Amino acid sequence: MNSVAVIGAGWSGVTAALKLSRAGLKVTLFEAARIAGGRARRVERDGRVIDNGQHLLLGAYERTLSTIRSVHPAGNIPLVTLPLVLESAPDTALPLQLQTPNIREPLNLLIGLLTAKGLSGTEKGATIYWASRTLNGGTVDASLTVSALIASQPIKIRALMWEPLCIAALNTPPETASAAVFVEVLRRTFSGTRNASQMLIPESDLTTLLPEPALAEVVANGGEVFLGSAVVNVREMQRRVSVALREGSKDFDAVIVAVAPQHVPRLLADEASTAAVVAALECVTYEPITTLYFEFSYAAPSPHEGSPMRMLDGEPGQWLFWSRRIDGSWRAGIVISAHRRTDDETALVDAALLQLSRSYRLPRPRWQFVITEKRATYACTPKQTALLSSLPKRVGDIHFAGDWCCPELPATIEAAVIAGERAADAVLNGK
Ligand SMILES: Cc1cc2nc3c(=O)[nH]c(=O)nc-3n(C[C@H](O)[C@H](O)[C@H](O)COP(=O)(O)OP(=O)(O)OC[C@H]3O[C@@H](n4cnc5c(N)ncnc54)[C@H](O)[C@@H]3O)c2cc1C
Repeated sequence: MNSVAVIGAGWSGVTAALKLSRAGLKVTLFEAARIAGGRARRVERDGRVIDNGQHLLLGAYERTLSTIRSVHPAGNIPLVTLPLVLESAPDTALPLQLQTPNIREPLNLLIGLLTAKGLSGTEKGATIYWASRTLNGGTVDASLTVSALIASQPIKIRALMWEPLCIAALNTPPETASAAVFVEVLRRTFSGTRNASQMLIPESDLTTLLPEPALAEVVANGGEVFLGSAVVNVREMQRRVSVALREGSKDFDAVIVAVAPQHVPRLLADEASTAAVVAALECVTYEPITTLYFEFSYAAPSPHEGSPMRMLDGEPGQWLFWSRRIDGSWRAGIVISAHRRTDDETALVDAALLQLSRSYRLPRPRWQFVITEKRATYACTPKQTALLSSLPKRVGDIHFAGDWCCPELPATIEAAVIAGERAADAVLNGK
């Protein structure tokens, strides 16, 4: 095995390319967009650098953090690390303040729940009992939804903890979300691995965090990276795989297709051997994520008081992320996941500003930007999780990567990175 093409410079394709190039293979990466990162990428707007949506990483993202560390050898990893905190924005009607101390998981959750503000003793007891049974329990019925899983929990606990966490982690409403995947996330987060429940907020843009330095290393290792180069077609031809671009085609010993599920069918339209995968992916449904960014010259109470990540009441924002700009102003990122909203942008902005005004005294924003990713992730339902789990991860020398190839986890950066590593390992083992 000498030459490998990777299609897609999302976090999965980038991870695969990095691993293969470190193993000494000649890697050629093609990415349709001009900026690497895919669904976790830098966006430049009005002279500002932002992301295509606010992202949060967890300490449990072992493979992602290890890969990020490996491309920032000087140790200056642009991530702010916080203990797990669930804290409502000031003056929220139904407030919660749950702060976990810096001790081993899951003891930190236990202490956090015992000392939480906004919950009664009975509610705390019911949550601790449910959490310990769920974390230590056996296999979860693969057809169960999160709503059914948490049905026995008090209404307030469902509304303040499990439902927001389900939407944040799985980008899928609890009524349709897979309980098995949700429990897997809870177990990885509170499994006893030190710092797994920490929250990590990127300080740099997402493309700078991993894709750019990783691709620079691929090039330094002798690989080639073509941004702004959309692959039109992939076909197996006599034990080689042909990758067609508009300018012509090139053959490789193996190809890793690391694109989002909706982009696979077009790429493999002429390849008979992958017809079953294509047919399955054509049935996949998706959930959106909208992020509203605002900049304010001041905010009161100061976002310095308490956690920079705040829970909102869902009308319309669900989570709020504060960050300080170099000039002293405040940037708010408001996230709305898995929503069915049809309001136009002006109405959504007005509703979000009204929502913020219930918690903070703010001037008119001096800048704003709304970005919606309509297919942010596949819907993490029991049916789709089963479908994706049933698909092969390679057909001949065509390998698949991408968050959808690691369906034991929700569609996240960690799933993408794990799938990229697995695809690279499969190529290396098939040498
Ligand atoms: C707004 C938003 C918020 C999110 N928040 C979080 C979060 O907080 N935490 C978290 O862990 N995850 C989050 N996610 C999910 C996470 O971003 C994705 O799971 C992950 O980035 C998927 O990476 P990937 O490499 O599998 O796919 P992608 O990022 O989709 O990468 C595929 C790449 O393939 C390229 N491509 C497609 N077709 C072609 C072609 N024909 N030729 C060449 N290139 C092609 C695309 O341009 C793209 O760059 C969020 C996603 C969004 C959209």
